[in-house]
Amino acid sequence: MSIDFEFRKLVMDHHIGSDLIKYCYQCSRCADNCPVTRVSFDFYGTSGYNPRSNILNALLGYKDAIFDADPLVIWGCTVCDTCDEVCPQNIELTEIFTFLKNESVKKGNAPEYLIEQAKAICDSAKAIPSQPAIERRREQLGLPSIVAPNVEEVQTLFKNIGSDKYLD
Ligand code: SF4
Ligand code: SF4
Repeated sequence: MSIDFEFRKLVMDHHIGSDLIKYCYQCSRCADNCPVTRVSFDFYGTSGYNPRSNILNALLGYKDAIFDADPLVIWGCTVCDTCDEVCPQNIELTEIFTFLKNESVKKGNAPEYLIEQAKAICDSAKAIPSQPAIERRREQLGLPSIVAPNVEEVQTLFKNIGSDKYLD
């Protein structure tokens, strides 16, 4: 495992709060409270999702341990923000994890299902396509019909943030 100093600097620059090296003392409170860690450890044992390890590898510049590993290492995080709330050192873990996810997309390493989901949102402005069954159920429940989203607006947003080029 080699240290990538440039990657390490990018992680540091990305952290919008305090000095990561100085303040993350690997107490594991983030992992102890992460719901994904709890569930994935049941399935995969110690190779389950672990935010504490991610922070450590990012801090040390162990880029390979993050990007060459199972996609779960990065994409397991559901951004529930629990770790941010419980970290005694106020480390913004989810900011760093978002940075790691964006880097993974730029490298073309994002899982296929995520790209497909992003494509669906870009094409229809909906994460879940409409289905007649859903509309019928809403009607039965006395709920109003779903207002059609503005697809053009969503596509402009994708273009403006530069995400459209990663969808092909
Ligand atoms: S809870 Fe905070 S200080 Fe503790 S290991 Fe996680 S990131 Fe580091
Ligand atoms: S934000 Fe991600 S890493 Fe943090 S507790 Fe939630 S799932 Fe776990």
